[in-house]
Amino acid sequence: MLSAHYAVVFLISLRLCLLGCNGDKIRPFLTYYETVSYNRDQLFKDHQRSKRATNQVQSTVQIEIFGYNRNFELMLRRDRSVFTDDFKVMSDDTSIPIDISFVYSGILKDEGESFCHGSVIDGYFHGSIQTRNGTFYIEYEKHDNGTVESYIYHEKDIDYSLMKDVKSFELSLKKYEFLERMKWNSKEESVTRTKRSVDMSRTTCLMQLKADYLFFKRFRNLQEAISQIAGYMRSVNAIYDQVNFNGIKHINFKVKVLNIIQEKQPDNAMNSAYIGPEKLLMLHSSYNYNNVCLSYLLTNRDYNGVLGVAWTGKEGNNGGICSMFSKLKDAPGTEGSLNTGIVTIQKYGQYLPPRLIHITLAHEIGHSLGSPVR
Ligand SMILES: [Zn+2]
Repeated sequence: MLSAHYAVVFLISLRLCLLGCNGDKIRPFLTYYETVSYNRDQLFKDHQRSKRATNQVQSTVQIEIFGYNRNFELMLRRDRSVFTDDFKVMSDDTSIPIDISFVYSGILKDEGESFCHGSVIDGYFHGSIQTRNGTFYIEYEKHDNGTVESYIYHEKDIDYSLMKDVKSFELSLKKYEFLERMKWNSKEESVTRTKRSVDMSRTTCLMQLKADYLFFKRFRNLQEAISQIAGYMRSVNAIYDQVNFNGIKHINFKVKVLNIIQEKQPDNAMNSAYIGPEKLLMLHSSYNYNNVCLSYLLTNRDYNGVLGVAWTGKEGNNGGICSMFSKLKDAPGTEGSLNTGIVTIQKYGQYLPPRLIHITLAHEIGHSLGSPVR
């Protein structure tokens, strides 16, 4: 009896250690996760079939995953709703034809109120499952030795305390104060402002996103990078769908253009890995984004805890959403855009789990919409 008891304790602690201890080292933002497996061959085949299907006769892709003492049966269909119909991917000023049929959404077979979103690439799934018991995340990681590990975790198993350290918060405040002093002048003559007069209920905000080389390198290929971005947008929309933001209700974001830098560009000022966040934002803002209401740069840089910065939204052309390309204050001859922001996907050298990136992006977009800094 006693030995049986010890065996159980040993097994439990072994399991905890395999999961928990790994979590400490490999995935420092997760306090717990479970590795999972599913029928990849079937998923690969189903995805191929779904890809060939027409929009009218879409086929369903099913995935069965066991984790957290529960069977998750996902029923998915192609979903490109976070991209505009004329969505295009640009690389080096050239449009690259890309099929984004690997992005899916759906429900759990036994839970009608659930919502699943994610991507199927090479027979692997990554994404999120919103259930009545909270949101679960499924991800995979390709190791350098060629093995791939799939795992699941619950939103409550993310260590949020790492997001809230005082040091990085204070540093972010400083960056914002600096940016406030750097603001562009509104060009009085071009004030055909519709920004605040526009009915912001049920409004779609079109975005141009840029993914720099460091972001691209983290995800290794176009499909992976785009699938991450689809997840960001889906989650940001879910967050904004629930809030009444200064009278802006049900605002919805869609990506119109995605610029991806796939190779190092030694001649590009943004290429250096040693540019501070405010400088990176200034460089990103030196382009004209009048064709969209917001433009964000996604990067993978260690900014001492600062996860993003954006020009804060103000009345008129003084920053934030829908600001037009105009002259820079105190720097005659310089022009730029204030409907911009940047977000990094790492903190203190560690990659953030998607949920923390979603929160960061939603938070920065909040500043673009006029949310005060603090
Ligand atoms: Zn903030």
